[in-house]
Amino acid sequence: MKNSNYLLSAVALAVCMLSAGTCYGQGGEEKTPEVKNVIFMIGDGMGLAHVAATTIANNYEPLQLERAQFVGLSKTYSANNRVTDSAAGGTALATGVKTYNGAVGVDTAKQAVRSILEKAEDNGKATGMVVTCSVTNATPATFIAHVESRKMEEEIAEYYLKTDIDVFMGGGVKFFKDRSDNRDLTKELESKGYTIVYTLDDLLSFKDDRLGALLAENAMPKMSEGRGDYLPLATGKALELLKHNSPKGFFLMVEGSMIDGGGHKNDAVMVIDETLDFDKAVGAAFDFADNNPGTLVVVTADHETGGLSLPSGKPDFSLPDQGVKFAFSTGGHTGIFVPIYAYGAGAEYFSRILENTDIPKIMERLTGWK
Ligand code: MG
Ligand code: ZN
Repeated sequence: MKNSNYLLSAVALAVCMLSAGTCYGQGGEEKTPEVKNVIFMIGDGMGLAHVAATTIANNYEPLQLERAQFVGLSKTYSANNRVTDSAAGGTALATGVKTYNGAVGVDTAKQAVRSILEKAEDNGKATGMVVTCSVTNATPATFIAHVESRKMEEEIAEYYLKTDIDVFMGGGVKFFKDRSDNRDLTKELESKGYTIVYTLDDLLSFKDDRLGALLAENAMPKMSEGRGDYLPLATGKALELLKHNSPKGFFLMVEGSMIDGGGHKNDAVMVIDETLDFDKAVGAAFDFADNNPGTLVVVTADHETGGLSLPSGKPDFSLPDQGVKFAFSTGGHTGIFVPIYAYGAGAEYFSRILENTDIPKIMERLTGWK
């Protein structure tokens, strides 16, 4: 946004926020930002304290997240609980509907609700997902599947055959190959035109159109177990493939899936390792937006995990003495608001206190994907 246009844009934004669906500029003409690519990044369980702890561990060197041009807050409660799980939280972010904890892509009446990924497909765009958990785990599942429980991971895997997703990367081989119905979904995907790869090298050297990368039986290794730069590298590769597959636009979801696990274990080192890794992927997405006008990047969390706070005290793990304690208040999730970081085309629309369900709705309005 140029400085000279700032006031006008601020007025347009205010008018836009008051109207239901369309934004009007100064002359009353329709004025919607040109958003053709959406990169939606979810740090599972990544609350503000997780980001702050990571910044402290990084000796206050700015994270990539600090490049964000606009920052907001998201209210994460679900339809039946003040504290959401990742299934209801993911469904809210994917579909714009609050539902019950455990639900994947269905509303409180267990009816399927279309996700923004599916709407992008319906509008002829390329789509993709990159995660560090199984691709059948709750968060990615909510973008592609419609089942009443997150535990139905074999059924969730079948949804990869029911959509036209261009690229998906993560773990979860067993839900495709080692199934109670003895189907081998990798063979079925190959007959649909997908290449299925099982190593990061094969993922990175892939040059065709449709790719499924299943790099672990279930979840991928943690950073501490040697996952390396998979997430930022896979994010970059997915962006390259999606841009190639659809110059007219794409939707990509990227999840830092294991920040949540660090919170559940009250393991500050894991929280920081996983958040730093996710932050590198955020940097790759912001770089892409710099080089590809019309790209919106939104980074948020489905909920906070661990009730992390940073009181004064001796550090409770082997970091340089920073004078803070990494204090967790629960082994579960919490109901605190989580941050939203936005970058690129249309980023200004996320500088608000939003319901989690507003996030995909604003994306839909900016892209016109219905
Ligand atoms: Mg998740
Ligand atoms: Zn969790």
